[in-house]
Amino acid sequence: MSRCAGLGRAGLALGVTSCACLLLLLPRAAPPPPPGPRPGPAPARRHPGPGPGPGPTARPGQAAAESGAGAGRGERLALADIFIAVKTTRQFHRSRLDLLLRTWISRARAQTFIFTDWEDRELRLRAGDRVINTNCSAVHTRQALCCKMSVEYDKFLESGQKWFCHVDDDNYVNPRALLRLLSAFSHSQDVYVGRPSLDHPMEAADHARSDGSTTVKFWFATGGAGFCISRGLALKMSPWASLGNFISTAERVRLPDDCTIGYIIEGLLDVRLLHSPLFHSHLENLQRLQGEAVLQQVTLSYGGPENKHNVVSVGGAFGLQQDPTRFRSVHCLLYPDTTWCPSKKTL
Ligand code: UDP
Ligand code: MN
Repeated sequence: MSRCAGLGRAGLALGVTSCACLLLLLPRAAPPPPPGPRPGPAPARRHPGPGPGPGPTARPGQAAAESGAGAGRGERLALADIFIAVKTTRQFHRSRLDLLLRTWISRARAQTFIFTDWEDRELRLRAGDRVINTNCSAVHTRQALCCKMSVEYDKFLESGQKWFCHVDDDNYVNPRALLRLLSAFSHSQDVYVGRPSLDHPMEAADHARSDGSTTVKFWFATGGAGFCISRGLALKMSPWASLGNFISTAERVRLPDDCTIGYIIEGLLDVRLLHSPLFHSHLENLQRLQGEAVLQQVTLSYGGPENKHNVVSVGGAFGLQQDPTRFRSVHCLLYPDTTWCPSKKTL
């Protein structure tokens, strides 16, 4: 839960805007300066905020982000062009990852990489080289999660693929919807698409362009809903994100992984997040997603044991007891030819 967006869940009185006192900004378009002082505690949890607001003024591509429909400057894209990073940890290999391997990962096998913190022979047998042991520590701290994001980013750059997408291990990714969305853009454009968990931008003291008395505002896509970045943009992030620089950037600003991504892209590179309602985390009310609409979304999630009623409303062959996350039901509606799905007649 080491997320910018998590202050509220932790029940802290500290508002998100109070990150202002935590953030030391870096000069634009230049490698980061040496670390400055590090005041105050770091935010450590995701915010269960009201969900995305209207966001900045609509721009080319926004329509595509909202509907998944073409925005004009698209390109012919194959699933193989997309690098999907799934963040997980030792304790969730069985309880969360098995479900993903049996469902959506089986339909995007070659380009899905699992970033974990433990050498697991059983997982290695199932996913081979697509399991990446980051050697980051297996704890839910800001530093450990930033360590994983840093490895995800470096592996993506190395891969040569056109798009980097990050998801958590409690996300269902609909590969067809993802492909439809990203096909609307060109990977050489600057594209950062995902869903904010807050209804307002982060606000932080701007030490780059002033003495810190003015603030910089930036949106970020919550990691728990997943987000994607084009290669063109990822390359521009390199001074602050590659080869361990991501960890030092996050340390300097004392922000969690997803928030640091938004800070680099919006705050430093001046590229705007495309707000997309097609990405979903369990911070929203997932029951509002019903029927056919569920099958059009790019990502889904589920509430987990402490909030097991927060799941998408989808019928199908499996009841809530058999399929508490609803991921198996969604998967059978999307891919009825899957061996363990009931025959079409019963769906
Ligand atoms: N996670 C991790 N290390 C940990 C705990 C969690 O890498 O020690 C990952 C987890 O596998 C998931 C993400 O962090 O992909 C978010 O964790 P979780 O869903 O438990 O918390 P949330 O922030 O969504 O409440
Ligand atoms: Mn989660």
